[in-house]
Amino acid sequence: MGPVARDLSAIVGAEHVLTGAATRDHVTDATVSRGVRGSTDAVVLPGSAAEAAAVLGWCYEHDVALVPRGGGTGLAGGAVPAEGQVVCGLERLGRVIAFEPERWRAHVEAGVTTGTIHRLARENGLMFPPDPGAAEQSQIGGNIATDAGGPHALKYGATGAWVTGLEVAIAPGELIRVGGPATKDVAGYDLLHLLVGSEGTLGLVTAAWLRMIPAPEVALPVVAFYPTVAAGCAAVDAAFSFGLHPAALDFVDGRAFAAAAGAYPGTPPDGAGLVLLVEIDGPREDVERQRTELYEALGPGSSRLDEPPPADLWRWRDGLSGAAVAVRGGKVSEDIAVPVEHLAEAIDEVRAIAGRHGLEGCSWGHAGDGVLHGTFLLDSSRQEQLAAADEAARELFDLAVRLGGTVTGEHGIGLLKRGALARQWPEPALALHRQIKALFDPKGLLNPGKKVA
Ligand SMILES: Cc1cc2nc3c(=O)[nH]c(=O)nc-3n(C[C@H](O)[C@H](O)[C@H](O)COP(=O)(O)OP(=O)(O)OC[C@H]3O[C@@H](n4cnc5c(N)ncnc54)[C@H](O)[C@@H]3O)c2cc1C
Repeated sequence: MGPVARDLSAIVGAEHVLTGAATRDHVTDATVSRGVRGSTDAVVLPGSAAEAAAVLGWCYEHDVALVPRGGGTGLAGGAVPAEGQVVCGLERLGRVIAFEPERWRAHVEAGVTTGTIHRLARENGLMFPPDPGAAEQSQIGGNIATDAGGPHALKYGATGAWVTGLEVAIAPGELIRVGGPATKDVAGYDLLHLLVGSEGTLGLVTAAWLRMIPAPEVALPVVAFYPTVAAGCAAVDAAFSFGLHPAALDFVDGRAFAAAAGAYPGTPPDGAGLVLLVEIDGPREDVERQRTELYEALGPGSSRLDEPPPADLWRWRDGLSGAAVAVRGGKVSEDIAVPVEHLAEAIDEVRAIAGRHGLEGCSWGHAGDGVLHGTFLLDSSRQEQLAAADEAARELFDLAVRLGGTVTGEHGIGLLKRGALARQWPEPALALHRQIKALFDPKGLLNPGKKVA
């Protein structure tokens, strides 16, 4: 055991410090499918907020960089460490500290999985709406650090909309509380929402106060198939202009649908160009009214409308990413977002960009929010394909900015999109980012090289 691991063992206990081969599961995240792999001298697993703060304190005293890690499902390489950096895994902070269903709120440690929070809410007639895909593995701390969204963010907002308070370990090793169980607090600057989405570069989230709402009486999914991208995107516009506010309005393009068609919970028509997955929810009578209007909005131009069971549909939707990987053994997926009126152009451009780089492209995403998982299918063992996909991804970022959107609508900048902020923000805004980072982390030891770099 080296000196770093020995000192950290004194804080958390030797059995909670991993070194050598034992660190293997803590040096990659979901970007491993595109060949991203880190390395570390030590993984430290604190068992309490106080221990997490002490770990940060030790790192600050000894000038050692620290990489916070939740469930490792990130798609931007945010939790991937570089040599010489210590990984701080939050999985031992897995306690539900308090759950008050009658007040629609919970106080949980950072390592509680998203799926656990969903179950807790559901079993008590409540809903915790943020629903990023890998919920059984991702942690609420990771969801907060990435402001994770998901299909239902369209109506309900991303994770940050459901957090009323945070406990955070900040440099040089102190615990602070920002907000709490109260749902309204305008006393200071909105530090809470500065920390939300900060990707582990400003502090280590150790606990959160979450709000929930009563679960809607009925949730009804409708799947609409269109022969072309243009026809499908016209239906997205129509849904909004009918005044509908669906809980979810996702799309899957024809190529991505074909990759997962075998598992679709129904019999799909041949040759769909775009598929819309829509969910309406609310009291039963209201959903009936919405359903009538939805059929009027989605019907024109569609080749079929389906109503699969909600759980089956969203389970199938969760499997899209894996189905795309299975086509050639790998993929590079980027999560740009564009104003919704440019969605059709962006979907078409993904395939055109891919073609220019000798790759096959496809996309799916949250149509209502303009979030597009532009995907390049490839064999991840072939370096030239990975390099072509990186080039293609850069073109995709330029497209997003040109259309008035963003280089990342969901997954964050992390390691993979390092430097991409400069494509989107002017220098004075970048300078503000750097100053905020320096204020929270004067030594630059919190997840260095990520987000603001
Ligand atoms: C199949 C699949 C589907 C997905 N679908 C969606 C989706 O629909 N929407 C979406 O937004 N994302 C989605 N994601 C991405 C991912 O699940 C989210 O980004 C998630 O919030 C990451 O949580 P995690 O606990 O796994 O974090 P990690 O991957 O471990 O870390 C992510 C970032 O957060 C930081 N971090 C983690 N925990 C803490 C903490 N306690 N304190 C401070 N910083 C911390 C890390 O340093 C890193 O920068 C998907 C991923 C997969 C694999």
